[in-house]
Amino acid sequence: MSAAGGLERAILKGAELGCTTVQLFTKSPNRWQERTLKASEIEMFRLARRDAGISPLIAHGGYLANLSSPDSVIRRKSVLSVCREMERCGLLGIDYLVIHPGCFMDSDESRGLARAAASIGRVLRESGGGGPQLVVETTAGQGTCLGRDPGRIARLFSLLPEWNIGLCIDSCHVFAAGNDIRTAAGYRAFFELVDGTTGLTRLKLFHLNDSRRECGSRIDRHAHIGKGMIGGEFFRRIMNDPRFREIPKIIETPKEGDMDRRNLALLRRLYAGREEDCPR
Ligand SMILES: [Zn+2]
Repeated sequence: MSAAGGLERAILKGAELGCTTVQLFTKSPNRWQERTLKASEIEMFRLARRDAGISPLIAHGGYLANLSSPDSVIRRKSVLSVCREMERCGLLGIDYLVIHPGCFMDSDESRGLARAAASIGRVLRESGGGGPQLVVETTAGQGTCLGRDPGRIARLFSLLPEWNIGLCIDSCHVFAAGNDIRTAAGYRAFFELVDGTTGLTRLKLFHLNDSRRECGSRIDRHAHIGKGMIGGEFFRRIMNDPRFREIPKIIETPKEGDMDRRNLALLRRLYAGREEDCPR
């Protein structure tokens, strides 16, 4: 949800669409500039959330942070930015903060991963274990970006054994990264891979997006549900998979006209169980 015009707008819009969970940005994601929350803003947000019964609440970190940058200035700036994000989430009562592990640029993947672990460790120590649970999102692996492989994310987690970091699976990203999740066999194999690496217990969140680009393209372009290269069957499977019934599902499909409503309606239609059990 866009939080333009006040953070609580995201809650109200989510409630209007019949959502029980909402993801938002707590600041403009394309700028370094931080945002200091006023007491009145925090109170309005918490009230709106309580009235709408939204749980869990999810924030997505800014796009400029690069926690695994070989440039120590950028890395420090990124750590600071995620720390501020954690602070705002804590004030707003947000449950999960989604971050990307970053891009290793002109260095190499294993060094990038080590730097990501060091940065995340710093953020978590600074935050003193309070605030939201950090959740690392799978990526399409565009360029030098880390996070396209659940095995590597598991390695990142193993470098931070004292922290309970969650996993967010983005369907567009894992497909673009080369996991053909369109077929029953591909779906099964992918979740076996996750189960055998990070473990499914780490899984806290889904981003359900179709993909404009083909499997293995490593290009991250979201499409409307069922209208991209992944197609409807994957979404039918995930909506009906009893293992994922309680896992929040967020759409990040293009913001075009009434498409949020239509994408959500389609996902709910794909759910074949009792209506009262349908995830919202
Ligand atoms: Zn995503």
